[in-house]
Amino acid sequence: MDNKNLISVHPLTNDPTAAWKVISKQQKVIKLNVKIPSKPVESDKLRFVCMSDTHSLIRNLTYSIPEGDIFVHAGDFTKCGQKDEVIQFNEWLGTLPHKHKIVIAGNHELSFDKKFKQEFNSAISKREGRQSHSEDEVKNYGNTKDDIVEAVNTEHIRKYLTNCIYLEDSGLELYGIKLYGSPWQPEFGNWAFNLRRGEECLSKWNAIPGDTDILITHTPPLGHGDLVCSGIRAGCVDLLSTVQQRVQPKYHIFGHIHEGYGVTSDGKIIFINASTCDINYIPNNLPVVFDVPLKDGI
Ligand code: 5GP
Ligand code: MN
Ligand code: MN
Ligand code: MN
Repeated sequence: MDNKNLISVHPLTNDPTAAWKVISKQQKVIKLNVKIPSKPVESDKLRFVCMSDTHSLIRNLTYSIPEGDIFVHAGDFTKCGQKDEVIQFNEWLGTLPHKHKIVIAGNHELSFDKKFKQEFNSAISKREGRQSHSEDEVKNYGNTKDDIVEAVNTEHIRKYLTNCIYLEDSGLELYGIKLYGSPWQPEFGNWAFNLRRGEECLSKWNAIPGDTDILITHTPPLGHGDLVCSGIRAGCVDLLSTVQQRVQPKYHIFGHIHEGYGVTSDGKIIFINASTCDINYIPNNLPVVFDVPLKDGI
């Protein structure tokens, strides 16, 4: 990595709304109206079909999943990462026609985060409980306390994901296109893969290879698909700096902020918030589909 490309933590990293007030003066956000193509993909292109935040509600989908070459799910495929939820999701993945299926975790996949498990169990053993998992919050998500405890203590959860490639701070190359996936997000509500804004998040973004073509994260970057209902911005400031100043992927796919569903661009990168569920956890939003030209010689 060139020194000039080293990203430093933004001074307003802890206040994304204020950061965006400053940063948005120097850049544009173009809203793109992306429709599901009516024609099959051309032979020199790859079709990506993106979803996110399905939260174990796939049986409630009112549409069929568009065909394509590569299916991407950007995390929050469960309510709390219970084994049965993962098995159900995996079975559904098995029914999809796409040649390659790529999945990352989100903050709801409690069983995928070893650090979360350690902290959760040590808090219980100290009889502190976890403030953020008060009965009220657990009920809000439709999970009981027992669901959470069972999910957290499921071992080797990844082995139930047999019908996809699971990425966790890792990448892969398909047909000359480099993909990379990461589940981490700025902390909120003390769920899985939470990190402090600033250095902690940036340390994960610093691991993204500079030649990544398609980046998949659970969290949005600042300014794209990250506007919460209350009017504040929840995206990661240092993820925006990383994608714009260092990695410059062609596509950045994410979810997490359900109400931010849609596609935008800064003129160079295409940002896709593929949240299937809306703010009320109803899976109303369509998959986002796009075609990528194959590189020369492939
Ligand atoms: P989830 O619990 O599925 O990860 O997120 C669901 C909703 O919680 C989002 O659509 C958004 O309204 C809210 N949310 C998630 N993360 C944040 C955050 O970091 N800040 C704020 N203000 N809201 C968030
Ligand atoms: Mn979600
Ligand atoms: Mn690059
Ligand atoms: Mn989420």
